Formats: sequence, structure tokens, C-alpha cells
Amino acid sequence: MALVSDPETQKAIENELEIVKKTLSEKVEGSEIISCHPVAVNVRITRTKFKNVIVLLQFPEQYPNHGILVELKSKTLPPRLLSKMMELCDQEAKKFLGKPQVIPMLIFVRRFLDENPLIACSDELQYIKSKLLSDSDELKIKQKAGVLNIHINQDKYYLDVKITVPDDYHTSAIKIDLKDSNFPENLVRVFIGQAVDMARTCVEAPLRRKPKDPPFEPKPSLKLVCDFLVDQCARPCPKERCPICKKKALPEEPKEAVTEPTDHQYVERVYCNHLFHYGCLDKYMKTPPFQGGKKCPACKQVIYHDRWKVTPKLAEERWAHHEAKKRELSEVVDFLGDCL
Ligand SMILES: [Zn+2]
Ligand SMILES: [Zn+2]
Repeated sequence: MALVSDPETQKAIENELEIVKKTLSEKVEGSEIISCHPVAVNVRITRTKFKNVIVLLQFPEQYPNHGILVELKSKTLPPRLLSKMMELCDQEAKKFLGKPQVIPMLIFVRRFLDENPLIACSDELQYIKSKLLSDSDELKIKQKAGVLNIHINQDKYYLDVKITVPDDYHTSAIKIDLKDSNFPENLVRVFIGQAVDMARTCVEAPLRRKPKDPPFEPKPSLKLVCDFLVDQCARPCPKERCPICKKKALPEEPKEAVTEPTDHQYVERVYCNHLFHYGCLDKYMKTPPFQGGKKCPACKQVIYHDRWKVTPKLAEERWAHHEAKKRELSEVVDFLGDCL
């Protein structure tokens, strides 16, 4: 690209650029001129660490009767999104034919960054829309509010969550709120609790770090959390079988799920994410061997759960006590039997 050949046009461009240099910083928040001369104008616009773009503007031969040429570059926004933005810029430039276009175009780009908070996760959104969710699920995107409503259907069960993407994503993590679900309440609490924790560890450095660890960098949390809620919670749970009795853990009809925590059929999700009937798990946890901790029969990971938080030694003692009680009782029965 070279200078426009008509001297009068060139003079007009020079005048326009004088105004750009003087007024850009007050007209376009977060803007920084990298270069500004009649061949091309180069401006960086930053809203947040992950929402920034470099705008390259070039003057066509028939400027300003033809639209200014806009090229966008960014290290944080995906190319697919940038080409979409460039198309919108071309349309926008047509509104200013015959007039100065540099500042209006930069205002337009800034407004795009302001009004589309979800651009910082547009690749993740694309994945969720086209790969993760199926036709029976629903996804509602409220771009201006930076909110996603996800409704996951599986068999007769559903999970409805609201995800809020903060402006400074992914310096900060997404926020996850339960909207509605017909999974048993204790399971939903575990789903959401784990999801919130996952999102947090994406942006908070772990407490215990080794001196040689590379400096902590926040990571995007949206895809990770949605993968978890879909592929490790809502999708598999209605089909999952209790590793002890091998029957389906949850009833076919969500309404029939038991709510009493000591009921045999009450469903518990343990550390490894497998589902057990309370009755099956309780018996298993209280039966030896205890050495090395009780392991999940399905995946061999040690079972950690608040309801069975005992050391192998304590479990051993309880077991011995329980067996002694049983012997005592049978002795009583024998004794009574002798009397009768
Ligand atoms: Zn069972
Ligand atoms: Zn397991």
C-alpha cells in the first residue's frame, strides 16, 4: 500500500491524522497509537488482558469516498472472530463515506470489545455449541450480559446451570450457579461444588508449589467446567450402576429417588465420582480388609467420603467390636435356647 496519489486527498488525510493524534485517547478508551502516518495508521485497543486488538487502517485511493481498509490482529482473540469483526468494520465504514473515518472505525472496534463480553471465550463457546451439547440439550447465550444458560437432558434427568463469564476472563474464573435439576439434591450439590472448585483452581495458584514450578498462569475455565458437568455428571449418572450390587444406582424415574440419607437406595457419589447405594457402600466400607483404605471396586481408587471418614485402624476396631457383639448375641440366643 502506498500513499494516495491525489495531493488534495493526501492533504485531507494529513489533517485528519492531526486530529486523530490529538483526540484519540479521549475518544477511544484504552487506545494507544503505534504509528500514525498517511500510509497507514496502527492503533492498539485494550479492554482487558485477554480482550485487545491491534487495528491497522489503510487509505484507499478514493478515500474518503471509499471505505477505509481495516485489518485486525490479536494474540488473544481467535482468527475466526477477527475475520467476522473485519467484515463488520467494512460494513460500518460505508456509513461514513465522504467523511473522516479513522476515529469512527476505532470507536466501532472499541464498542465491539465492550458490547461482546463473551469474545474472550469464543473458541470455548464454539466447542460447547458444536461438539459438547447434543440436539436434546439447550444453550442460551446472553452476549451482552456475558451469561450462558445450559440445559442438559439425559434420559428423564436434567441439569440446568447458569454460567457467568466475568469481564476480565480468564484472569478471573467463570461463575457457576445451579438453576434447576431433578437429580437428587446431594448429587447436584457435589456436581456444582466440584465445578466451582475446578473453576477456582484455573485462576488461583496452588498453595503448595515447588520452587522449580514455572510461574502460575491463569487458565480458561469454561470448557473444562462444561466438559465436567456434561461428560462426568449429567450424561453418565442416569445410566451408572452401583459397583457393589451392579444395579442402576439412580431410579429410572427421577421422582422415585429416595431422599432419606440412611435409606438403602439413597445414592452417594464418592471421591472417584462413582455412584453407590448408601446401603451397599455402608456395608462395604465396614467390612475388611481395611488395610490401605477401602477401594472403589469399579476403578480401584481409595474411597474418600465424609460419611465414612475413618482410619483403617478405627475401622478394624469397629469391625472387631461389631463381630464381638454378634458373638455375644448368638451366645445369649444359645443360652436362652439351653433354658428353653
Ligand atoms: Zn447397590
Ligand atoms: Zn470409582
